[in-house]
Amino acid sequence: MPTRKMNNVRPHLFLGAASDALDEDQIVDNGITHILSLLSEPLPPLDCHGKVKFVPILDCDTADLLAVLEDCLEFVSSAVKSGGNVLVHCIAGVSRSSSVVIAYLMRTEKLNFYQAYKEVQKKRPIISPNDGFAEQLRLFEMTNCKVNLSHPMYKLMKMKIAIANSETGEFDRSKMSMGWLSSSNVAGPEDVVYRCRKCRSLLFSSEHVVTHPVGDSPLLYDGSSRVDGKDPKEVAAAQAEACKLTLHTMPLDWMEKTLEAGEQEGKLSCPKCNSRLGTYKWSGARCGCRFWVVPFFSFPRRRVDECAPIGQVMATARHSVPPQRAAAAPSAHGGGDGAPAAAPAAGGDDDDASAAAVDSASSSVPTGRVDDEPNRD
Ligand SMILES: [Zn+2]
Ligand SMILES: [Zn+2]
Repeated sequence: MPTRKMNNVRPHLFLGAASDALDEDQIVDNGITHILSLLSEPLPPLDCHGKVKFVPILDCDTADLLAVLEDCLEFVSSAVKSGGNVLVHCIAGVSRSSSVVIAYLMRTEKLNFYQAYKEVQKKRPIISPNDGFAEQLRLFEMTNCKVNLSHPMYKLMKMKIAIANSETGEFDRSKMSMGWLSSSNVAGPEDVVYRCRKCRSLLFSSEHVVTHPVGDSPLLYDGSSRVDGKDPKEVAAAQAEACKLTLHTMPLDWMEKTLEAGEQEGKLSCPKCNSRLGTYKWSGARCGCRFWVVPFFSFPRRRVDECAPIGQVMATARHSVPPQRAAAAPSAHGGGDGAPAAAPAAGGDDDDASAAAVDSASSSVPTGRVDDEPNRD
């Protein structure tokens, strides 16, 4: 086996294995002043070690890289800025440490995950972030290389990790403190919104829709997929079509009553008219395209209406529920936020454009509420 050495990825930035960090010659020769150790146990200290930061993390798909990433990047960044030389290492210099270095290049050089991966790979061909880290880095990319732990996608990722780390593979709500349901009340004027096809209640917006790469395995590095004997292009096209049939969301506040029952899977019904909308399964299930979605909150598109970005329509959605509707509506999210009551619309075929014209002045806040829109069917 050839002796590997740490690799110089960028000026002042090195990537390597634990053996490199313990190799006094390499540390001195490369003028290493800072060491970032991503390990389960800290390294024994050496005299030649400069500033050492130990970050405990396992190399497994379900380790929460994002939780420690900002801290790691700060350390690397301050080392580089100070003019020192920083070694980022884990055991083999393959997964954990390469993930941090990739993230560093993504942020400092404005690269996407794939580009940064390729850049690091040029310097150290053996790198291979595990699938979980790769997914977290793609999320990092989606959020403009900022770790924002309150971002809905991060919450979802946390949930996914919590499920994977639970002994039973089931979601333990008690372990997730507050904030595990996303508020369906918040939608920007640019967001597409989705309504119950039957009663037109607002259900969620594009902000809550969770997308995934189409197909069995993420088509990560080279566009190839595991297809036995079939034309990969045809399979990919069929999978893409199948994927379009369903919307996946994060868990939403209006599902609370259903989810409170503590079941691991079940049906999702409209909070207003109670018609069947979709299904959930905490431990995950396959999308029609075969991608494994965790947690799985799925709505067949035929049961929901997709409506164009409609800041103004959202405003009209704040009308109070007429008394007879209020009685029928679930109480948990009861309306009555002081907006003037609207007369039920005459006729049954209002589209969203006409809805937008209805008294949009009743609220200046472009948010929608699930259950306080007049029924128009
Ligand atoms: Zn409905
Ligand atoms: Zn899919």
